[in-house]
Amino acid sequence: MNAPAGDRKAAPPYCRPTVGLTLHAPVPSAATSAGVLTLPPRLSRNHACPCGSHRKYKRCCWERDEVIRRQLRASALPPWMLHSRGKLHQFENYACKSFALPDLLASLSDTRCAPDIPTFDVVNSLLHTALLRIPSLNALEGDLKESDFQRLIGRSPTPDVKAFSADVVANVLDKLHLDGVRQAIEEVIERAERNKAFREGSYGALRCVAIDGWEPFASYDRHCSHCLVRYVKVKRAGGKIEEVEQYYHRYVVAMLLGPVVDVILAIEPVLNQEARCDVTGEHAGHEGELTAAHRLLDSLYQAYGGFIDAIVGDALYANGPFMSQLERYGYGGFLVLKKENHEPFKEALALWQGQASCETYNDPDTKEHIEFWDADDIDTLHTYQGKVRVIRAVLTKPDKAPTTWCFAILGQRSRQLSRRTALKITRARWHIEDTAFNQWIQYWNFGHVFRHTANAVLAVLLLWTLAFNLLQLFVYRRLKRPRRPQDPTYTIRHIVEVMLREVATLPAPIPWAALLDTS
Ligand SMILES: [Zn+2]
Ligand SMILES: [Zn+2]
Repeated sequence: MNAPAGDRKAAPPYCRPTVGLTLHAPVPSAATSAGVLTLPPRLSRNHACPCGSHRKYKRCCWERDEVIRRQLRASALPPWMLHSRGKLHQFENYACKSFALPDLLASLSDTRCAPDIPTFDVVNSLLHTALLRIPSLNALEGDLKESDFQRLIGRSPTPDVKAFSADVVANVLDKLHLDGVRQAIEEVIERAERNKAFREGSYGALRCVAIDGWEPFASYDRHCSHCLVRYVKVKRAGGKIEEVEQYYHRYVVAMLLGPVVDVILAIEPVLNQEARCDVTGEHAGHEGELTAAHRLLDSLYQAYGGFIDAIVGDALYANGPFMSQLERYGYGGFLVLKKENHEPFKEALALWQGQASCETYNDPDTKEHIEFWDADDIDTLHTYQGKVRVIRAVLTKPDKAPTTWCFAILGQRSRQLSRRTALKITRARWHIEDTAFNQWIQYWNFGHVFRHTANAVLAVLLLWTLAFNLLQLFVYRRLKRPRRPQDPTYTIRHIVEVMLREVATLPAPIPWAALLDTS
């Protein structure tokens, strides 16, 4: 994402003769152009560039090759898909052309030995399970018997004979390589960035990422080796109180906040003792959300680097060690302050003692009256060397009790923002609740466990994230639907219902194999 501009090498010999042509004229068809166009074999974007520049492919010739690939992908789409106005067709076109969905799915692998059913078919069926909100693997198995769903995943219809069973799907989920799915998620974000999907979508020209803990389900009986366990009191028949074990999974989720579109950047599980042994060799009970968040921040920096400007978090993250980690990565921060006896909040309160607000504002849209208090250059934290700005905003709406927001801002660019923009960013943290968590539980069936093994639980979450991001981008960027503040999930729910109906109208199998980049 940080490809230095203006440092492009001359085109290497393998595609020099055709670049001019392909940039201006559409490629007639993949078949006829195959002899003319020679792209390098599909490489990992982190691979050394085949032009011999000793730079990573993604920082060198990838973008130019991608222009050609995009045209090849478009030309491989059958006319009945390309020219349809159906939402499902449009979604598949968009996902294939702009995000190379077939290649993303083809890059996923699992550890089964010589399987009869290719991983591609299974993850493709799972992506559409997520997209169309099919509620369980059993329901998916039912759909795998239907001609229309078979066409959707590229198979010739065999009515009443299922394409494959729920057991096959479960087995793939148990054995899927998760790093591959993570990489596919990153690739979608990276392509969206290159397609300027986030260009007009930031607050105060800062790319802000909310992080928050999330717990999709809890269970008293079914569990896996990576379940977290806690003891809860339950009331038995006759009123007797008993303490029982409850199993659950918890994640820290990072979501890019935008006024136009929100997408998930990464998900990190909170590890239990056994999982910690697997991953880090440590074994001191469950780790906390904060420990997982430190790891999440490391992986965000690894994957997205300077694409991110600031992290927005709740009071859990308003501590010196987390702030120092933000500073190490050059990230700013907007962190909610709750505990009045904690620094830097305590210092700010002392400074504001007896002082009137420094700014008042009447928001004509929301009818809110806002009063601000502001203190900068606070450096009373022992565990954080940087300076902190603290803002308090008291919001009053007609006929409602006032609400108070207090938050710390760190990082030079973030600290320079206006009070109103800073408040907007801190409040946008709720997108992660509204757009993601609530929607996932209500409509994406995440309260239900599709398959409860350590690998499968996370595999489902990551595959569903991939589908979620593609759908968000489709609805808000491709269809340009406005984000309704009242209920951002309503528009999406309606479009998914339309797409589901359109599965029955596919005239032929979607030619997934032909859409693959075979260069
Ligand atoms: Zn190169
Ligand atoms: Zn579990």
